[in-house]
Amino acid sequence: MTTSHYIAGRWVEGQGSDCISVNDPALGLPFAELMAASVAQVDQAVAAARAALPAWKNVSASERAAVLRGFAEQLGERREALITLQMRNNGKPRHEAEIDLDDAIATFAYYAGLAEQLPGKNRDVPLAAPGFSARTRLEPVGVVGLIVPWNFPLVTSAWKLAPALAAGCTVVLKPSEVTPLIEQAYGQIADALGLPAGVLNIVNGKAETGAALSNHSGLDKLSFTGSNSVGSQVMRSASAQCRPVTLELGGKSAIVVFDDCDPDQAVEWIVAGISWNAGQMCSATSRLLVQDGIADVLLPRLQAALDNLRVGNPLTEEVDMGPLTSQAQWLKVASYFATAREEGLQCLAGGQVLEREGWFVSPTLYADVPKESRLWTEEIFGPVLCARRFATEDEAVAEANDSRFGLVATVCSADLARAERVADALEVGHVWINSVQAVFVETSWGGTKGSGIGRELGPWGLSAYQSVKHVTRCLG
Ligand code: NAD
Repeated sequence: MTTSHYIAGRWVEGQGSDCISVNDPALGLPFAELMAASVAQVDQAVAAARAALPAWKNVSASERAAVLRGFAEQLGERREALITLQMRNNGKPRHEAEIDLDDAIATFAYYAGLAEQLPGKNRDVPLAAPGFSARTRLEPVGVVGLIVPWNFPLVTSAWKLAPALAAGCTVVLKPSEVTPLIEQAYGQIADALGLPAGVLNIVNGKAETGAALSNHSGLDKLSFTGSNSVGSQVMRSASAQCRPVTLELGGKSAIVVFDDCDPDQAVEWIVAGISWNAGQMCSATSRLLVQDGIADVLLPRLQAALDNLRVGNPLTEEVDMGPLTSQAQWLKVASYFATAREEGLQCLAGGQVLEREGWFVSPTLYADVPKESRLWTEEIFGPVLCARRFATEDEAVAEANDSRFGLVATVCSADLARAERVADALEVGHVWINSVQAVFVETSWGGTKGSGIGRELGPWGLSAYQSVKHVTRCLG
């Protein structure tokens, strides 16, 4: 049983009623347990964050930057333990667990830099009108609740935690019940750095704990990453209290391949977009749009590449793809395989769960999927790729945009003018051209349409935790 809640600078045992099993998905077996936080403990965490706010928001930006640099360094010092835990609890291949850790470190280092560059608290605003002066203050939003999912827990939390602390907010973080251990590193680092009690609080638990936090009247803002169904409940809580909310939700993103591409290069980008993290990426490019002239060459190569991926236990084998992270996700993906069979979809690769211990499925490709198919329209969150052919650029853009989601897209073409034109026409928050899904801290993350509200990363990620105030004075 793990003591895993960090409230007001102390590690405490959960007093909730849910017992949370922490699983190794490659074996389908638990390796740790913890009790969820109770509603009263969520109250204590919010109260601690509220009590810590006046002092933390008045700490100088350079001191806050030093704290963030401390987080980056201390993550690096815990490197091997954090990589191993992500392999064990998430089922991530080693190289992906390494990228996650490096991204989290880069995020803290980046927001340390932004905090250092924050202009002094007050900036004069030049006015055209005579007789008045005005100044701007960027103030922290206040006490923020952060609720995150399980697919990239270390990074997703870093994308919220680092800018929130940089802005001078105090925080209550609720990790996913599927991966409740990894973010404990942030509490341990807070301890090691001597962060004042209450600036960072971590409460673990399931939906009840998340709802207790998102409904809490003591928060000034909530930032949520997760599914659309829970996101809409979180938005209702925010609306009931007329409180700001950032939502990073699901996706059903397109990868558009034009017939002037090198097919082998395109296969590499397509496979990465659907097999990284076993397809459990909000940004998975799970809708392949392939131009008529290259489809018959590309699809067999893609099928071979997916069949050749090494799927296995990242802790004991050299693998390209691990298991799905939870049994619930495994059952969900299996249900889409059943739907595909019922719909009579043409399966070129995979389409089944693996007959072995643990929660494995094979990388999957369906071809010529009808637009009405649930597999074409719904987020599956697994390594399941659906393909359709197109003839013209306009047709590709229209099909890519024909989704209730709008998170990301990838465009593959040797004609860079066309690739840029298509990128501009896509209704999404981030587009890659001739690339794997490289995410840089200086760029933004977030979606249009049903993929959410607001942006993380870059200066936009910091603004999400800042409130603009103006003071205007009559010079009399
Ligand atoms: P989820 O919505 O089930 O859970 C997310 C978090 O919300 C968890 O911590 C969970 O405990 C908590 N929660 C559950 N019920 C709650 C409630 N009623 N009130 C408040 N909190 C509650 O999502 P998941 O299965 O953990 O993650 C997968 C989803 O996350 C996918 O849809 C994926 O696309 C999305 N996601 C989006 C992004 C992005 O940046 N847009 C990134 C990662 C994941």
